[in-house]
Amino acid sequence: MKTANKNDFGKSPEIKQITWEARCLSAPAVRKYCKKCGRKTDFVSSGQFRINAQKKSLDIWLIYRCAACKTSWNAEVFSRISPQRMPDGMLERFTRNDETLAAQYAMDCDFLRRNGVDPGTPSYNVSGEEFSLEEQVVLTIKSPQALPVKVSAIIREKLKLSQRVFSDLASEGKIRSIPEKDLNKCRLNHGIIVIFN
Ligand SMILES: [Zn+2]
Repeated sequence: MKTANKNDFGKSPEIKQITWEARCLSAPAVRKYCKKCGRKTDFVSSGQFRINAQKKSLDIWLIYRCAACKTSWNAEVFSRISPQRMPDGMLERFTRNDETLAAQYAMDCDFLRRNGVDPGTPSYNVSGEEFSLEEQVVLTIKSPQALPVKVSAIIREKLKLSQRVFSDLASEGKIRSIPEKDLNKCRLNHGIIVIFN
């Protein structure tokens, strides 16, 4: 007896919903002019916070160090914040240099941009089901951290597409995003929805 599948009933194939999760594996270094080295170098998060108390408010920074000479640079986390205004347990996490919290800031591109530096490309991986271009797919790509990686790089790598094939598909409208963005240029940040048809 032949096993029926859904296509035997003349239905159009269903649109697949697929989710990929991108994860930052290590915090990006930031390129910055180092006074001691006299040139632009990579500054790397030390994983340590610096807290200064003045009157009733606190200044909190994440300390970065030049990879070449260890000169420090402080990225501002909070300026003149009242400890009462901080969520419960937060100050304690800053005080003991909580590793997860430090990594969260070091991987937060908005935080780095607010501090006037451009993050480099972090190392990352992408988990989720692969698919072929023959399928109709609504692909959601999510990232818990704001990931400054090009959407095209993530899709090309995962589906093993050349730059040429990807940009042809994008210009023919066979790959598009919601909301509509330039898929050759846009970066993932927290996520995007991409339609393949
Ligand atoms: Zn230096």
